Amino acid sequence: MSSPPIVIAGAGLGGLAAALCLAKSGRRTLVIERAQTIEEVGAGLQISPNAGRILQNLGLGQALQAIGLEPKAFRIRRAQDGQTLARLPLDEAPARWGASFRVFHRADLQNALLDQARRIGDISIRTGVKCVDFTQTADALDIRVRTEQGPETLTAAALVGADGLRSSVRAHMRFGEGDDPVYSGHTAWRALIPADAAPACLRERETQLWMGPGAHVVHYPLRDASIISAVAIVEDGLAEESGRSILSLTGEALTHTIGFERWHADLRALIEAGASWRRWPLFGRPELPRWSKGRVTLLGDAAHPMLPFLAQGAAQAIEDAAALGRALEAEGRSVETALEAYQAARMQRAAQVLRRSRAQGYYFHLRGAAAQARDFAIRALGGRGMLARNAWLYR
Ligand SMILES: Cc1cc2nc3c(=O)[nH]c(=O)nc-3n(C[C@H](O)[C@H](O)[C@H](O)COP(=O)(O)OP(=O)(O)OC[C@H]3O[C@@H](n4cnc5c(N)ncnc54)[C@H](O)[C@@H]3O)c2cc1C
Repeated sequence: MSSPPIVIAGAGLGGLAAALCLAKSGRRTLVIERAQTIEEVGAGLQISPNAGRILQNLGLGQALQAIGLEPKAFRIRRAQDGQTLARLPLDEAPARWGASFRVFHRADLQNALLDQARRIGDISIRTGVKCVDFTQTADALDIRVRTEQGPETLTAAALVGADGLRSSVRAHMRFGEGDDPVYSGHTAWRALIPADAAPACLRERETQLWMGPGAHVVHYPLRDASIISAVAIVEDGLAEESGRSILSLTGEALTHTIGFERWHADLRALIEAGASWRRWPLFGRPELPRWSKGRVTLLGDAAHPMLPFLAQGAAQAIEDAAALGRALEAEGRSVETALEAYQAARMQRAAQVLRRSRAQGYYFHLRGAAAQARDFAIRALGGRGMLARNAWLYR
């Protein structure tokens, strides 16, 4: 009888990347996804070179080139008057960090990972299977799942909880009271906007960041540049429940609700061109003392949900996947020791990225004299200097 597979709960970007990395290390995996169909939200995603390199090493280089768009630059602007504070040249990334900065429609990237996973015999994928809980003894791990046909028990060599912010694997690892998602006080509003409805000057192949008091907007073109993906992140200070009934707003309603009337006319026009801005309250969770217990571990948002100010949540999930693959590749190690090694390899870096993401949000949203000092510092550093500040992240 063959040995049981490693079960990965969750077929998001993190879970699929983990399956590919484990297959590369010669491990058999079963990915279980609670949804009937594997699909991502209709929004864009930036993938920086640190994650792009890993995807390329998984044999996805050509696919990434086909579905991604490489912005030439990252432009930082002041929201009130539209002034460019810095233009970071991104086209130097392949030479410096071994991969490009790319932007994707999330569904395209997820489908590319899924297609690759389906081509690999060592990866099985079951949808409509929800991980409920698990029990582990010294020599066995049983995972209880719920399917349309009823409950089932899966025997596994290990369980990887890649089941996102509200991870049930994490819940059953029992980290104690207080380990719940906490509303961050920020809401993201997301829209896909037809490029021909946007002001011509905002259709360039660039990622643009507009910083204003208490809010910022990021936008970039997707696919063949026919769509602009935009996200506005706002400090709303409201209890999360108060906005729960609002699922989306038109661009005009968003402008009035957020106070974007005081922002530059081009940006306002872009926001108003969005027919439907979807509300996305942002949550964090306490940092964990450990990610692995016995044969069970966590990956991606399940382990370290982070605010998206550095655009690193998925990138860090992909880094986790690569580290997990390496840890399980080493010969003669028990699964438990490999999962400890994975945790040791990843926890510090993920925590550093998480804290820097939080700090970045504070910096983006400064007001008054503090914002002026920030803008002065960005100008003084210039585009290359700003890019060099994040070299620790991309290399
Ligand atoms: C506004 C915004 C912008 C962002 N921009 C970027 C960016 O530009 N770049 C970047 O790198 N990151 C970005 N992120 C972060 C990124 O989206 C996430 O970090 C990433 O998608 C997490 O992937 P994951 O696989 O860990 O979790 P998820 O994508 O949440 O996937 C979890 C999967 O598990 C499934 N699941 C849940 N529970 C169970 C269960 N019990 N059993 C089985 N399956 C289950 C879910 O259905 C889902 O498919 C952004 C986030 C936001 C909110």
